[in-house]
Amino acid sequence: MKALVKYGKGENEIELRDLPEPQPQPKEVKVKVKATGICGTDLYGYPALRPPVVLGHETAGIIVEVGEEVKDIKVGDRVTTETTAYICGKCRYCQSQQYNLCNYRRGLGSAVNGAFAEYFVIRKESIHPLPAHLDFISASLFEPLSCATHAVMEQANLLREEVALVLGPGPLGLLVAQVAKAVGARVIMGGIEGDEKRLALAQKLGIDLVFKLEKKDLEEGLSNTLIGKDIDVVFECSGSTSAVKYGLKIIRKGGRFLQVGIVHQPIELDFNEFFFNKELSIIGSRTQRPSSWEKAIKLVNKEQVNLRELVSEVLPLSKWEEGFQKAREKSSIKVVLQP
Ligand SMILES: [Zn+2]
Ligand SMILES: [Zn+2]
Repeated sequence: MKALVKYGKGENEIELRDLPEPQPQPKEVKVKVKATGICGTDLYGYPALRPPVVLGHETAGIIVEVGEEVKDIKVGDRVTTETTAYICGKCRYCQSQQYNLCNYRRGLGSAVNGAFAEYFVIRKESIHPLPAHLDFISASLFEPLSCATHAVMEQANLLREEVALVLGPGPLGLLVAQVAKAVGARVIMGGIEGDEKRLALAQKLGIDLVFKLEKKDLEEGLSNTLIGKDIDVVFECSGSTSAVKYGLKIIRKGGRFLQVGIVHQPIELDFNEFFFNKELSIIGSRTQRPSSWEKAIKLVNKEQVNLRELVSEVLPLSKWEEGFQKAREKSSIKVVLQP
């Protein structure tokens, strides 16, 4: 089968190869891939990547084979999957289903062959059936949606009526903003030059206020007069150093700052300004847990989030280079590949 292999840590060390089809172990299932989204981690790397590996972890497809010990999943089922391919099952994090923190965790498409391929295999516990009304392309966004429910509902514990500022209107930011709306918060979204299309979509999706930050706002950390409100929670989804600093400045005293985007370099912070003077909480959010998936599935079933609107391009897997190129451009939002 054709599969997109990351063979080194470098950004461009990726190629389409012919690999044998994977065979499920007794407790695994084999999925025929229908749609897999391109994630920022596929484009720019991620510490957990262990090449050589088939990339792809935001996926949906059809069960074509089940291992001999799998009873509750059938051939023909339409499914999506959590990215947990292996966990130790014994540590304190595994005991409380915080699999994202297990030291021995291996993820689909980062340490274990993933879903930019015709088929992949995965442990049965990670599989979720698709809601009947949902198409495969939309369903490939369940994984990033679960990252958003984890950040908003589990890590930030965002409340009704709170004011949330989402920085970075990429696919993850647009999902975080939608989940924050579903919780009942007032949601503001900030972008920069070039984000016009994404901010327009945010508006269409019902985000209360969108605005474009000027370069000087980011550099000087000035609060934007457009907002005119106390920001309770900032969700930093862009991964940019200047956005992190801006977010920390603009947040109210006693507020919460959520790191959702992956920041690629160390940042120097004035601890007295943020933690002594302002009593801020900085909260991490790493991927998702089974509980985040349950919340994501509920939101989709109640049609409180729109996934399909976020997909700007659908391309065949053979055109992955074009897809990766598009995914780097701000004129695209989520790019999905189909084998
Ligand atoms: Zn992802
Ligand atoms: Zn563990």
